[in-house]
Amino acid sequence: MLLRAVFLMLMLFCYGGCATMPRPGQPSTGGVPVSTICQKYSLDCSWDGVTHTVSMNYKGKLVRAMVGSSLVLVDSTRFSLSSPLRRKSGSIMLPSDFERVVILPTVENMAGELPKVPSRIGKVVLDPGHGGKDPGAIGYSGLKEKDITLDIVRRLRDELVKAGVDVVITREKDEALALDRRTEIASRPDVELFVSIHANSTTPDHKRSISLAHGIEVYYIGALNADDLDEQQRQLNAKKLCGEFKMQGSSEEARKIVLSMLYNYKMSEAPGMAERMARNLSRAVEEHSRGAKSQRYFVLRNTLVPAILIEVGFLSNPGEERRLKEPSYRQKMAVAISRSISEYLYATGK
Ligand SMILES: [Zn+2]
Repeated sequence: MLLRAVFLMLMLFCYGGCATMPRPGQPSTGGVPVSTICQKYSLDCSWDGVTHTVSMNYKGKLVRAMVGSSLVLVDSTRFSLSSPLRRKSGSIMLPSDFERVVILPTVENMAGELPKVPSRIGKVVLDPGHGGKDPGAIGYSGLKEKDITLDIVRRLRDELVKAGVDVVITREKDEALALDRRTEIASRPDVELFVSIHANSTTPDHKRSISLAHGIEVYYIGALNADDLDEQQRQLNAKKLCGEFKMQGSSEEARKIVLSMLYNYKMSEAPGMAERMARNLSRAVEEHSRGAKSQRYFVLRNTLVPAILIEVGFLSNPGEERRLKEPSYRQKMAVAISRSISEYLYATGK
């Protein structure tokens, strides 16, 4: 999965930072030294003493694992071991199932003998914009953004569930929900993507009585500045996420690595996702695409995973408001968004 490469990496590292102690019930002895595996399979192996990670190359495949973590990343595919990597008498010891779980499928896949081992697909957080006392934009006929966004998200949830995707919704009904809470809901280790749904609005220019602006826009955030990275909600979300990874307080270095990897992953995935979404969605509903754009919206700044915000149309445009009023149009939209998300989640190979 393309999108998951960095996320998984960071999860791996986060886990590594957190899980410096074997968990109860896990074997604490046995295992195989890294050097043994590297020799046996002629792997090009290296050790990074700063990040405590082992890297192994096999015919262009990169295997990464971290001492203290039971998660392993093979390119963008994640594997879970029965126990963490650990140190023993100056050697890095791999759990006894490392060879079976990681190396053999990798080697066999390269030979084309076995299908790729599927990795777990994480959850998608769907966020209907506005709600409760905050109606968002209101169209000429009175259509409210908060109702449109909730309806599309419910339909989208149903479509994604049909496609086998786990979904979390930030608000299930017409209720107020603060932006910080929306980003907090997305700050869990099993979340892969955050999708916020909104409807657009502009004020008419002085020569016209109505606004003619129309079309679909998808937003992502291209980069965060130092203030963004220090933003209070971002810090709280990072603390929550790393807490859920059971990261120990002393592993500040590992925490920084995880957050940096998360950041890089988010920045590398979101623009492409936004572009594909804008293109696919506009084609599917036969509406003009205004493209994918970088924007510093709160929910895009403060989520730690790849995040996009879809503006499904302009309520300030009477024609577009009419379309958005039609349940069949909203259904078409939900199906198209779901398809793009599913493709993103299930895409294999780079
Ligand atoms: Zn909005």
